[in-house]
Amino acid sequence: MELHGALVASPGMGHAVPILELGKHLLNHHGFDRVTVFLVTDNVSRSKSLIGKVLTEEDPKFVIRFIQLDVSGQDITGLLLTKLAEMMRNALPKIRSAVMTLEPRPSVFVVDLLGTEALAVAKELEIMKKHVLVTTSAWFLALTVYMASLDKETLYKNLRSIGALLIPGCSPVKFDRVQNPSNYVRELAESQRIGAEVITADGVFVNTWHGLEPVTIRAFLDLENLGQVMRGVPVYPVGPLVRPAEPGLKHEVLDWLDLQPKESVVYVSFGSGGALTAEQMIELAYGLELTGQRFIWVVRPPAEDDPSASMFDKTKNQTEPLDFLPDGFLDRTKDIGLVVQTWAPQEEILAHKSTGGFVTHCGWNSVLESIVNGVPMIGWPLYSEQKMNALLISEELKIAVRVNVGDGIVKKEEIVEMVKRVMDEEEGKEMRKNVKELKKTSEEALKNTHIPSTYFTQN
Ligand code: UDP
Repeated sequence: MELHGALVASPGMGHAVPILELGKHLLNHHGFDRVTVFLVTDNVSRSKSLIGKVLTEEDPKFVIRFIQLDVSGQDITGLLLTKLAEMMRNALPKIRSAVMTLEPRPSVFVVDLLGTEALAVAKELEIMKKHVLVTTSAWFLALTVYMASLDKETLYKNLRSIGALLIPGCSPVKFDRVQNPSNYVRELAESQRIGAEVITADGVFVNTWHGLEPVTIRAFLDLENLGQVMRGVPVYPVGPLVRPAEPGLKHEVLDWLDLQPKESVVYVSFGSGGALTAEQMIELAYGLELTGQRFIWVVRPPAEDDPSASMFDKTKNQTEPLDFLPDGFLDRTKDIGLVVQTWAPQEEILAHKSTGGFVTHCGWNSVLESIVNGVPMIGWPLYSEQKMNALLISEELKIAVRVNVGDGIVKKEEIVEMVKRVMDEEEGKEMRKNVKELKKTSEEALKNTHIPSTYFTQN
């Protein structure tokens, strides 16, 4: 019987990139004959063009299909998690009919955390093995399943009284805005639902590895700790699921990097969805200029009320992003900086020997891409679980500094200080050493698969 996997990713490159990598791993290392990946999106042409930029080779055994969603009637002003979960809920009938008509019938199903309602569809279609792919940290998975194990009152009491959740065996997670949990009632309810659905899967894959999150991964194995919360559902660290840099790729940014000294350039990018306010963009520009450090900056049109605005292309009606930069900025920095509009070949930039630091919004893929290339970071979290990621890389792993993202804007003086700490100071040298050590553990992790060899074929 042909081994066929059906993989479903919720909207956003942060979900598409690791699910596509997982698909390749299943074909190359787990004996799959065919993998079909469904990418749910509100804008097929935009997703196609972004995927085209990250997928170069074509393979007849590796089929990619898009599931188009009409979001015109949907309120997409809320928090990202609720927005995406709602989109995935609306996509369920289309996911069902797409998976149902697949030939040969898939025996393995995988969906990311935001689409766990599709596990019930896979069950109804009698797919033998159903999984969740966690496209972020094991720590975030721990938070999600632990929240689901608490009733609503206990959860709220915890958040109100200590402003944190003490997850067994893991670092606690602090919450902002806890004075008034009703501000994010919907988000907590969606998170609890997702956590409860995760443990209906046959297994959970997480884009992480032992060297990166040893304590949390151990807590999942421990039946006294998270193992108990998971009720026997195995958790497999399968990371790093990271697209390898394409050797010999031609791009003006890479040509420019070729001319710069080793580890001298700071790469600045806020992922596929991140957007700054106009005021913050100007402050960042002045900060970069003041550092005198070489830089590449991926600039997007600003957004005033939603830091994830670029994900839904909500900034598209605005004028040129470069119009928002301070007068004369491009001219004054032309010898040290390169400004790229909208999209850059991130993997290839991070893999380039001239890149020495990364100002990142701490999307999990960006974090992993920086680690596998041994580049220390300046964490500037914007939305979703990015604050947790920023904490992990700064306080636990000591491979990054973290800007202070309060309610106000990050001032140019702070930007200068952060860049200097990573690029010039002793502390930065230590971080570079640490991240290079971690890079080695990622290479080791890729050599050993943690999923047993007969796992996908056994009943
Ligand atoms: N990406 C890229 N070029 C860009 C912006 C993003 O190649 O200009 C890729 C990046 O390498 C990563 C993904 O898009 O693989 C973004 O995922 P991440 O989890 O970092 O952030 P998200 O976009 O989901 O917020």
